[in-house]
Amino acid sequence: MIDAVLPDFLRDLPAGTRTPCHGRSALFVHPIRSTPTKADSTEAKALCAQCPIRAACADHAIRRGETDGIWGGLTPAERADRARRRPDCGTESGWRSHVQRDESCLTCREAHDDRLRDQRLERLAREHTNHGGSLAGYRLELLLGLPTCVRCRAVRQEYYAGRPHTTKWYRRGPAAAA
Ligand code: SF4
Ligand SMILES: [Zn+2]
Ligand SMILES: [Zn+2]
Repeated sequence: MIDAVLPDFLRDLPAGTRTPCHGRSALFVHPIRSTPTKADSTEAKALCAQCPIRAACADHAIRRGETDGIWGGLTPAERADRARRRPDCGTESGWRSHVQRDESCLTCREAHDDRLRDQRLERLAREHTNHGGSLAGYRLELLLGLPTCVRCRAVRQEYYAGRPHTTKWYRRGPAAAA
């Protein structure tokens, strides 16, 4: 529940939108009870179900160990359960279990992106060692945001030079169509 604080996951919220819990703090975090009543819980969960940042909200509350109220559609007991079953964050299997459970985890996403980048760098190194330069190497250089190398560019130029030059139908002028 987010009225009192402005946690980082709110950055995922589309500009100009409000979360469904906005202005309903008593429903999400009861003024006295740390566990909401059954009726409040059901209503709060129904609102969370429509929230565009539900997964990030639940993840935030679990990481911060929030003990009170409904966060991301989860009661304190459900969050404690998730925390116990929490995957090994930072590993590929951790990342996969988050994906299966529709959870967001910054640690796992960053670790996954780093691994992907390392794999691409390795593939690029292999392309360069085995072929000097290649079309695959050129694509990898683009994907990695690296400057394309002279050898990969040359292979690519040769490849496209050898292909018949087709003019797209929408670029054909009236003369070509006639
Ligand atoms: S998931 Fe629920 S508690 Fe979290 S921001 Fe959305 S509506 Fe509020
Ligand atoms: Zn994780
Ligand atoms: Zn290259």
